[in-house]
Amino acid sequence: MLELHCHTTYSDGTLTPQALVAAAVAQGVRCLAITDHDSMAGWDEAIAAAEPHNLEIVPGLELSTVWQDKSLHILGFYPERSQLELPLQDRLAGRYRRAQAMLDKLRALGYPVELCFDPNMAPGRPHIAAALVQAGHAQSSQEAFDRWLGDDRPAYVEYEKFSAVEGIQLLRQCHAVPVWAHPYLFRGGEVAAVLPELVAAGLMGIEVYHPSHTASQRRQLEAYCQQYGLIMTGGSDYHGPSKDDRHTDLNQLQLSDALLLPLKQAAQRLRHGSC
Ligand code: AMP
Ligand code: ZN
Ligand code: FE
Ligand code: FE
Repeated sequence: MLELHCHTTYSDGTLTPQALVAAAVAQGVRCLAITDHDSMAGWDEAIAAAEPHNLEIVPGLELSTVWQDKSLHILGFYPERSQLELPLQDRLAGRYRRAQAMLDKLRALGYPVELCFDPNMAPGRPHIAAALVQAGHAQSSQEAFDRWLGDDRPAYVEYEKFSAVEGIQLLRQCHAVPVWAHPYLFRGGEVAAVLPELVAAGLMGIEVYHPSHTASQRRQLEAYCQQYGLIMTGGSDYHGPSKDDRHTDLNQLQLSDALLLPLKQAAQRLRHGSC
């Protein structure tokens, strides 16, 4: 079984890499990608924890970009770490500035909260939501999103400008395979219209299998992969055990290991400069 989209405590997941590996082993996962938001910091711990088990770790990340002012996520698999580290520090610094801007807005609205920033960790809205709950301003994380942090709510701040095209180019420069994450969660345009532009920029795959996609959306994405010659990936976008509405379960999609080979082959081609 294969899981190609998971978060740890190095971004907005609630499990450490070690705990995520233990959960994956318990669920029968054979191959697990670590795809934290704008961070590669969880890889080493995951690889060390997976070593005694029959579990392969795929190094990855989920890059936050914007397309026409709307958030668009791009997964990158098998990047050359040394090349991506410096540009990612910029992205991480942008996330800190954005989180601070949201905290400033909340303070102005009368809901001050404190957030401790760990320099290794990519801060996101779920952390701020948790802080609002902890401070007693909201009963639940969902309430915090509904009142202040959702995309059209008063404390929301967009990511700093880093376009999807720039994101794809950065990943390609670092020999990572760029894959459009959960395309039908994108709110800035029709998938059919955006996809050719991302492909022209160097996109190599689509996350076809994601808990938010309906069966007909999956079929449509499979057809796009055929049409454009793209790799298909999938994962549960697991953020740890929780009771909220958006919760997904590790290995809930029961994906076949067969998805891995084309991804690995694409990464090899990038490394050897043949595409
Ligand atoms: P960020 O990358 O900081 O914009 O945070 C994105 C994360 O916030 C997503 O992965 C979701 O877990 C969560 N999120 C975004 N919008 C909502 C919403 N309206 N309700 C609940 N959670 C949300
Ligand atoms: Zn996340
Ligand atoms: Fe995402
Ligand atoms: Fe994700």
